[in-house]
Amino acid sequence: MTFAVHGLVVARGIAIGRAVLVASSRVDVAHYFVQPEQVPAEIERVRQGRNAVVEELHRLQADMPADAPHELTALLDVHLMLLQDELLTTGVKHWITDRLYNAEWALTTQLELIARQFDEMEDDYLRERKADLEQVVERILRHMKGVASPVAPPVSSPRRKTSQDLLLDDTVDVPLVLVAHDLSPADMLQFKQSVFAGFVTDVGGKTSHTAIVARSMDIPAVVGARSASQLVRQDDWIIIDGDAGVVIIDPSPIILAEYGFRQRQIALERERLFRLRHTPAVTLDGHKVELLANIEQPGDAPVAVRAGALGVGLFRSEFLFMGRNGHLPDEDEQYLAYREALEGMQGLPLTIRTIDVGADKPLDKAHKDSFLNPALGLRAIRWSLADPAMFRTQLRAVLRAAAHGKVNLLFPMLAHLSEIQQTLAQVDMARAELQARGAVYGPVELGAMIEIPAAALMVRSFLRYFDFLSIGTNDLIQYTLAIDRADESVAHLYDPLHPAVLRLVADVIAECTAQGKSVCVCGETAGDVGMTRLLLGLGLRSFSMHPAQILAVKQEVLRADTRKLAPWAQQVLEADDPAALLAG
Ligand code: PEP
Ligand code: MG
Repeated sequence: MTFAVHGLVVARGIAIGRAVLVASSRVDVAHYFVQPEQVPAEIERVRQGRNAVVEELHRLQADMPADAPHELTALLDVHLMLLQDELLTTGVKHWITDRLYNAEWALTTQLELIARQFDEMEDDYLRERKADLEQVVERILRHMKGVASPVAPPVSSPRRKTSQDLLLDDTVDVPLVLVAHDLSPADMLQFKQSVFAGFVTDVGGKTSHTAIVARSMDIPAVVGARSASQLVRQDDWIIIDGDAGVVIIDPSPIILAEYGFRQRQIALERERLFRLRHTPAVTLDGHKVELLANIEQPGDAPVAVRAGALGVGLFRSEFLFMGRNGHLPDEDEQYLAYREALEGMQGLPLTIRTIDVGADKPLDKAHKDSFLNPALGLRAIRWSLADPAMFRTQLRAVLRAAAHGKVNLLFPMLAHLSEIQQTLAQVDMARAELQARGAVYGPVELGAMIEIPAAALMVRSFLRYFDFLSIGTNDLIQYTLAIDRADESVAHLYDPLHPAVLRLVADVIAECTAQGKSVCVCGETAGDVGMTRLLLGLGLRSFSMHPAQILAVKQEVLRADTRKLAPWAQQVLEADDPAALLAG
């Protein structure tokens, strides 16, 4: 039976494919596809993990004091029994062998499957055994954590076809659509190397970092789809309507045909836009507009160039630091990564933002769980300044990379004068350290992100210290409106057109323009074609966005006349309800 789940629009387009469920686990597990030749080793990892847990439980049994409650020994027996369960072992083997899931993913997938069967049981006692099963699997996962997979994730998802795939065209590989309760940005990054056709998550806001990475993959995605991961089953056919933020589960043939048609229309539109790739972004009245790219990894740089970007306006360097179990990249590793990104830019400028971890971008799961209020806690520049040695390692790596091309250095989330002063002092120290070592380094322009209302309100002070500013609307909206950008329950209040947000953005642009300093918007607003005319009208001439958005924004620029947009933008700025004016 066809049914639909509504979520938030994150990345546009239509995806039609089979669901691949990623079960959530309390243990932080990686999800990736292995190569066929790795299958025996993956199965062996699970076997070893399971055997270790069996031994552990036997030891516990042996050490149990004679007067221990009977329930405790009975519980250990239940756990041992669950460990031998056929359904668990054969199921895990199936996911590894037939789907090429890595061992941890196979375990959590099978756990989810069995847990659902437990949920449907009439008997209370049996239903409650689900918690035992979860504990047993978590024990296995913890044991396996020390035994990492020997090979890096492959670059494609070699899924095999099932007989059900005959429903559509069985002569082509069936697209896969990822469905999860939640995915960390680090997980998303790993999936970036796979060939998923779309994403759905139960939680997350439009500008959560998971959504941002999904968007950078340029595939349809819906987040905040509440119960999607509960309703969808492995292998279900689903449609992601990224334009409407809707997920259709088990679509009827008529719906499939309709969406297939829309998919082809979107592909044609993209082809049309692609012709604008080499067209300079100039408004009708002759203003040159700089369209830059946001990237997460060095390998994204060539993609940015191919998409027609004139440079990178935001390299989110924190993605180099995430999911490494606390082993941060050293100076050389970072230097090589920045240099690779720079080389990928083929002479175009690269703006590297220093590490911005925290909030919904934890270094790893343990890091996420250890803060009271992560969005207001030790994130971004605060985190860097709290560990100056780590910070200077990054600064030295960036300065060294700058010897190979045009690099700008950007600092996230500054709010206090003292933070500005400390940051600049760290840059001076990093230079001095390189000099003392006789290392080669290059010049960089220094910029600050405007992401906190306090920063927007003291823009003049910022301009005394920095060569350029970059407005991070994702956080600026979050902090101005007190709306957690990653929380789907308040997503309806997350409003880029709120008059207070517009006022802050407009004032920063105006002040920079008056002082002849360059200013860019690098939040998601910059890639939203519905905002392009307004931002142009407010005087913005530099936009940084996901490469996939560049041509659509360029098309808006080519149609714009800033002589008309400027007075209109002032009206929007004064309006109680700017959204109404924008729609009109
Ligand atoms: C922003 O806040 O708008 C921004 C670009 O930074 P990030 O999304 O990485 O927090
Ligand atoms: Mg930010």
